[in-house]
Amino acid sequence: MKPAPAPRCVFLLLLLLALAGAGGLVAADGWRAGAAREKITPPAGLWMTGYAVRDRPAEGTAQELWCKALAISDGAGNRGVLLTLDLCGITREISDRVAGELGRRYRFPRGAVMINVSHTHCSPALAGNLSGLRILPPDGQAKSEDYTRELEHKMIRVGAAALEALAPATLSWAEDEAHFGFNRRENPIKDVPALRAAGKLKGPFDPRVPVLAVRSAGGELRALLVSYACHNTTLAFFQWHGDYAGSAQLELERRHPGATVLFAIGCGADANPAPRGEVALAGQHGRDLADAADRALQKPMKRIEGLFAAAFEAITLTYASKPTPEKLREAREKNQPNKEMHQAWAAAVTQDFAAKGDGAMHASYPIQAWTLGNLSWVALGGEVVIDYSLRLRRELGDSLWVFGYSNDVMAYIPSERVLKEGRYEGDTSMIPYGKPGPWTPGLEEKIVRKTTQLVNQTRPGK
Ligand SMILES: [Zn+2]
Repeated sequence: MKPAPAPRCVFLLLLLLALAGAGGLVAADGWRAGAAREKITPPAGLWMTGYAVRDRPAEGTAQELWCKALAISDGAGNRGVLLTLDLCGITREISDRVAGELGRRYRFPRGAVMINVSHTHCSPALAGNLSGLRILPPDGQAKSEDYTRELEHKMIRVGAAALEALAPATLSWAEDEAHFGFNRRENPIKDVPALRAAGKLKGPFDPRVPVLAVRSAGGELRALLVSYACHNTTLAFFQWHGDYAGSAQLELERRHPGATVLFAIGCGADANPAPRGEVALAGQHGRDLADAADRALQKPMKRIEGLFAAAFEAITLTYASKPTPEKLREAREKNQPNKEMHQAWAAAVTQDFAAKGDGAMHASYPIQAWTLGNLSWVALGGEVVIDYSLRLRRELGDSLWVFGYSNDVMAYIPSERVLKEGRYEGDTSMIPYGKPGPWTPGLEEKIVRKTTQLVNQTRPGK
């Protein structure tokens, strides 16, 4: 009787299984990834955006601003590219032109390009964004338009460079938490330290820090995507700065040499960081976020396997009422705090109605979904309140990250609750955005319905 060969076969099989499971040794899932970056810091002398009180241009650079890209491709060759920028806002026109050009060159649809801005308020005013904030002097307007044009070229270059750099990779994800943000509608900032210490902060807030790790076939960390749902507004000075998100990216790149670190902001429209006001605090919050990302990296991360799919659609949202001529005249003439902002609002709204007629009562609202294997991402336009992220994760499962400030930042996007409550996020923020007035009720349902449809469309088996 011949000796049974089974034990040796079993040993080889076990060895192969061990190698395959060793994470990073073999990029067997077929994923490829590439990262790229380019500096987008403007020179001094350009106007900044985000705060109505900014009455003069920027005076210098405290931290460089970046456009970064992460391109991914699955084993079947389906590709997408995420662009993240240290900017306050972006317009649909810019996003669509950049996505259109990348799509033309690389033959993929609009949905394959996702664009997210960090909402740092120490960044330049872009042509067409936050048009109700201030009427820029002619030379300021011209510089802003030049910068915006150049920015588009850079975004296309960075996206293309990331796609050209695609190389075998493994993707994995985990989450941790950071607690420097809080619900700014429910807690006076001066009370935040005491309320936080007592565990008595009020209102919805999501401390989760989702982290995607991209490793080379050899296991080296090549790129890291970090998210957090909180306004990127520690600072309000006259220097270019990426705020806490910029500091977190720098800190993580220092800790992980060779890795490109990207930040995509979540639904942080009703959250602020605390404390605020000093460069050192932006650094401190940045380190808090970097610590959370590093803790996530230490966890058993979920490996992404499967395919990539993307979907993009725009729905129509409407404004509830048209401003009366008396209201516009009052905005132009009345002596009131932030008078320049009210004047800019009146000018923007008047111009919009002159150009579009009653079409100015509608807005095209972009919604995007990506699925990477077992993880889905949603990218919503505008300054989205946290209710959306909490609801979507409740309804579609926790393997879902929801980004706001994506593809267009045209206004705040309140939930039905916040719209009803009104105040800044539900009502008066339409002034700096140069929009006619608050949204018509029902927008939450419309957005959630379309988002659900797009996510399901990208998930396997659909
Ligand atoms: Zn904001």
